[in-house]
Parts: sequence; C-alpha cells; structure tokens
Amino acid sequence: MDSHRRALSDTQPACFWLDQDERPPVAGSLEDDDEADLVIVGGGFTGLWAALQAKEALPDRDIVLLEAGRIADGASGRNGGFADPSLTHGLANGLSHFPNEMAAIQTLAAENYRGFADSIDRYGIDARMESTGTLDVATAEYQVEGLREYHDLNTDHGERSFLLGQEAARAELNSPTYMGAVFRPDTAIVDPARLAWGLSRAVRDLGVRVYEQTPMNTLSRRGPGIEVRTPTGRVRGRKCLLATNAFKTPVRRMQRVTVPIWDYVLMTEPLGDEQLASLGWANRQGAGEETNQFHYYRLTADNRILWGGYDAIYHFGSDIRPSYEQRGASFEGLSDRFFATFPQLEGLRFSHSWGGPIASTTRFCLDAGSSHGGRVAWAAGYTGLGVVASRFGGQVALGLLDQLDRPELKLELVRKRPFPWPPEPIRSLVIKMTQRGLARADRNEGRRGPWLRLLDQLGLGFDS
Ligand SMILES: Cc1cc2nc3c(=O)[nH]c(=O)nc-3n(C[C@H](O)[C@H](O)[C@H](O)COP(=O)(O)OP(=O)(O)OC[C@H]3O[C@@H](n4cnc5c(N)ncnc54)[C@H](O)[C@@H]3O)c2cc1C
Repeated sequence: MDSHRRALSDTQPACFWLDQDERPPVAGSLEDDDEADLVIVGGGFTGLWAALQAKEALPDRDIVLLEAGRIADGASGRNGGFADPSLTHGLANGLSHFPNEMAAIQTLAAENYRGFADSIDRYGIDARMESTGTLDVATAEYQVEGLREYHDLNTDHGERSFLLGQEAARAELNSPTYMGAVFRPDTAIVDPARLAWGLSRAVRDLGVRVYEQTPMNTLSRRGPGIEVRTPTGRVRGRKCLLATNAFKTPVRRMQRVTVPIWDYVLMTEPLGDEQLASLGWANRQGAGEETNQFHYYRLTADNRILWGGYDAIYHFGSDIRPSYEQRGASFEGLSDRFFATFPQLEGLRFSHSWGGPIASTTRFCLDAGSSHGGRVAWAAGYTGLGVVASRFGGQVALGLLDQLDRPELKLELVRKRPFPWPPEPIRSLVIKMTQRGLARADRNEGRRGPWLRLLDQLGLGFDS
C-alpha cells in the first residue's frame, strides 16, 4: 500500500464537526399536533438564522422549527467553516450577474457579516471563530497573472487585498507548489457545527420550539395559513419558511432552481509541533487554489488540517442519500493532492472523511422566492459560500413573508430568480459537460473551451 493510501487506512467515515462530544442530545421530535405563527422547515444555518432574526424582530412571535434529522445534519454541519462575507459567491461572480447593484450588495454583505459576528458574541456561541483572513494561492505560472487581476478587482471595489509573490506566499504557508497568493484579511474560519448548535440553543432560549427527527412530508394551504404534515403530527401556521437548501421540497418552483453537488472533505489527525512548524502558517489563514477544481483547507482549533473540495459529484435526479456521504475515489484523490501540496507532512493520517450536498443555482448564489399566496417563502442555493450568506438568506425569506419594505428585497439578487436547471436527463448531461470543461480548462492553463465559453456568454459560467 502506498503512503497516501496508508494515510486513509484508519479514517473514520464520519463528519469530524458532528463527531464532537459537545454535540447536544436530540431535542425531541414532534409527538402531537402543534401550531405557531411561523413554521420553519430545516435546522441548518438558514433556518436557525431565520428563527433568531424573527424572534429578535418580534419576540412574541410563536415559532416552530422542524428538522428532518438533527440540527446541522445537512451542509451546515459538514462544511469547511470558511466565513466569507460575500453574498454572491465572490466579487467576480457578483459583478457578472449584478453589475449595477454590486456596491449595494457589498454594503449589505458587510452589514450581514457584522450581524453574524455580533450574534456569535451576544449569544455566547462557542463557534471557535478566528478572523484569520484567506489566502487564494496560485500553483502554476499562468495563474499568477490571474492573481494580479483578482487583487486589482478587490481593491477597485474597496475590498482589502494584498498581493504576495512566491516567497511571501510560502512564508505564510509553506508549500513548494505555491507561485504567489492574494491575501484577503476580512474573512474568518469557524467550527460550523458548534455555530449551528449554539444558534439552536439561542433560539430555544428565546422560546422557539425545535423538533428534530421530524421531517415535513407535505405542505398545503389551510384556511388563511398553512399546514405541514409530518409522520407523527401536523403543524399549522400562519406562515412557513423553507430552509431546506439542497433537499427536495414540495414547492416545484424552488426545486427546479437548485441542484445538490456533492463535495468531499478529509480531516487529518492533530499536527505535532514539528509538523506545524514545517508549514509556518503562523497566521492560520484559510486557503484555497485559484483553479476551477480547487481545494480549500484550514486549521482547526486543535491543529488538524481540514482539506476538501476538487471533485464535484452530481447524482441523477438531484438525488440525496446518506450513502453518497462517502466516496473512496474522491478521498484517494484528495489524499494524493494533499501530500503533493505538503510533502513535508508525509506520514500524517486522516482521521475523518465525509461529504455533503452543496446547493447550487445556475448563478452560484442565492435563490429566494415565495409561493402559496405569500404564505411560504424560501432562501437557498448559496453554492460553496453559505456559512455567512445563509444569515442574509434567512433575513430575506422573513422579509418576503412579512412583506417588509427593506432595501435587500429590492435587489435583483432577490427579485430576479436564477435561470432554472433543465430537466433530466439533460440536467445530468449539462452538469457533466461543465465539469469536464472545467477540468480541461485547468489542464490547458485556464483556457476555456467552446462549452464553457457558451455558458459564459449565456451568463451561466462557473469560475472559482
Ligand atoms: C462539503 C461542504 C463544504 C462547504 N464549505 C463551505 C465553506 O467553507 N464556507 C461556506 O460559506 N459555505 C460552505 N458550504 C456551503 C454551506 O455549508 C451551505 O451553504 C449552508 O450550510 C447552507 O445552510 P442551509 O441551512 O441553507 O442548508 P442545510 O445546512 O443543508 O440545511 C437544510 C436542512 O433542512 C433539513 N431538511 C431537508 N428537508 C427537510 C424536510 N422535508 N423536513 C424537515 N427538514 C428538512 C435537512 O436535514 C438540513 O438539516 C459547504 C457545503 C458543503 C456541503
């Protein structure tokens, strides 16, 4: 067995974040009928932030939150924990879709990020938030020019950004593959599961009734409100907020716009002092590459390295199953490229492996909308940057339900829905062609082939 496979030989097939002793006991499931002013479906970040903001705005509002599994079982407990203020999956993607309102979006993004950090503080949530900033690294000569353009774009739009040459980049984090980097200081890393658990405690303290292991089976109109049926009871409400992200819902208009793309992650065992010293990494930044297929990586509080990304796997019919959470081929590829990036860590082992569904739209950021005559609203589809944007999503969906006159509800980002994904089997074909096109572009020094260029022209092109 070669050393990279050996590094995977004792790996637990489980999500590190959810595998911590601090995981709270099950909150209890719905055992009888209930009713509330607002029924929130989904116990990830969108649902939890929506519950928190709904209570903060109107403390007397009666709220029930239903979660099919356990809090943070979805993407919220399985992600990289990169807390980036962007609401548009990065500045470049935002500018390509919303060129005329990017300044307004950035103002709201900064406000949302402050609200994110303030709430963590105010409710005493042990989210292990570290304001480390992010290193976007170039690993090939052709990417260095791209870094410069990226840095200029950031500074032109008022974002703090530092361009680092090869030596400076390696001084921050020592990889022989680095040719340069952009350092963006205004981002953070968090422990996502602890964040979700803390939010769940905060909303329960404010009076929200949280039912776990209580899936919504159906959603229908009932009198002037709605009714949600679960296997064990019904919940009637005046309004319903769907925070189900990549998962299927009964609202077809929501369904057509997001697809689950599976993303895979490895966690190493804790690094010893010498291993850590071999990396430098004194400033503990989150890091990621500039390629289309990229890895994201960061340290944890106990100095493990989380190493994820690269493969983006789609299953026919937008299918989601627990068996998709493990994928040997993806973990082997991740392991090989981990040791290519950090050869000095040869011998280190991976303790955990897992995957999760990323909800992606054709514009790679928020989809919000309402149905059932305004009684149901949703926010979903943040693609790979939803840790912070989901707080904004919760706020938007609440605003739609409450018909508020707020600036964010006037944005195209909210009012204009993403172009829907085509139905199967064309959906699978389009996703496969796009994935192949992106991999090919990475092999061809970033040159995008005809398929990606066509998507770019249609405003549907992905660029990391
Ligand atoms: C591997 C991975 C890495 C990522 N890395 C990052 C990152 O580093 N930074 C970043 O910003 N973003 C990242 N993301 C994206 C981010 O995690 C998500 O955008 C964010 O967590 C979305 O939160 P959510 O609450 O909308 O969705 P989810 O967390 O998926 O929550 C939806 C919840 O709804 C529940 N549900 C579904 N159907 C029903 C039903 N019928 N009844 C009741 N409950 C239901 C599910 O069980 C689930 O708990 C990553 C995602 C993945 C998968």
